[in-house]
Amino acid sequence: MSRPLHATIDSTALTHNLAQLQARAGSARVLSVVKANAYGHGLARVAPALANTDGWATLELDSAIHLREQGYTQPIVLLEGVFAARELEICSQYRIGCAVHGEHQLAWLREAKLPAPVDVLLKLNTGMNRLGFPPERAPELVGQVRQLPAVAAVTVMTHFATADEPDKGIAVQYERFRSAIAGLDVPVSLANSAALLAYPQARGDWVRPGIALYGSSPFADRSAQSLGLRAVMTLQSAIIGVQELHAGDAVGYGATFVADRNMRVGTVACGYADGYPRHAGTGTPVLVAGQRTRLLGRVSMDMLAVDLTPIPAAGIGSPVELWGRSLSVDEVAAAAGTIAYELLCAVAPRVPFTVA
Ligand SMILES: *Cc1c(COP(=O)(O)O)cnc(C)c1O
Repeated sequence: MSRPLHATIDSTALTHNLAQLQARAGSARVLSVVKANAYGHGLARVAPALANTDGWATLELDSAIHLREQGYTQPIVLLEGVFAARELEICSQYRIGCAVHGEHQLAWLREAKLPAPVDVLLKLNTGMNRLGFPPERAPELVGQVRQLPAVAAVTVMTHFATADEPDKGIAVQYERFRSAIAGLDVPVSLANSAALLAYPQARGDWVRPGIALYGSSPFADRSAQSLGLRAVMTLQSAIIGVQELHAGDAVGYGATFVADRNMRVGTVACGYADGYPRHAGTGTPVLVAGQRTRLLGRVSMDMLAVDLTPIPAAGIGSPVELWGRSLSVDEVAAAAGTIAYELLCAVAPRVPFTVA
């Protein structure tokens, strides 16, 4: 018997989510965002279920090469472009497109002598203020980049800071982008998951959903289920210990939870060394034998405690779902004061995965 903690990837859910997003995208094409090892799911595990995507977006050159070597023929783009001039050669060799967000990358392209030109996503900074050129330079830059022998097709892109927050929205950034590209005949890419789901006018030619593909909601106030999305990763374990507590007994490090009555407490094989958030406190939802209960006290490195008092039939070996199919990762993330992106990306290498 091995340690019971494991993660399952639901390929059917992934294919379903992609189809949902492609339907929402209308005539725009979908770049499936698979950076960060497909948001912690494992690129090699998810790619076959996304085979129907119109293209791929990642950040890591090795992921892009992996996709090509696996035989995927769609466009692949690097969302931060290259980090050194010599990487352009590799992009050219593997037909990988590059974001160009700064003057240094433009200079590399100008000087490059490539076996074949690369596609470029020219990135405009419309308000996020991380990467990108000033929007007013768009006409000049598009003209300049199109002339370069190292460049094939040019697309103009931007990224929204608050597409997931209804009270802030995309209006300011969207207008800056529109006026920057007015009169230019160039394909555009603007929308992440939140913008794709909330702002049909911002679909452009290529949408770039990440989190929604994996069945998590980009919005704090709308569930993934209400958006027609299904959880892709389920993190499961089992009860490996049971303690009978009397009123006044404490649980775990720091003795932060103290029983106010007699209780049954289950110990689950899952801790922060597995990627479960240590910031999740007493009350965070956990499913035991299909029933909702709550986490108690501090999460340890390898274990956490749950309240079995309301589930008398549960005991050693009872199945536990930390998040996934029956308990939204969004709910667990909210209880831990973070977002599902962080939980999914943080699942530790020691957790074994199976693909279903
Ligand atoms: C990560 C990323 C996305 C995907 O964002 P989600 O919120 O996961 O949909 C889209 N565009 C860029 C530039 C990104 O870096």
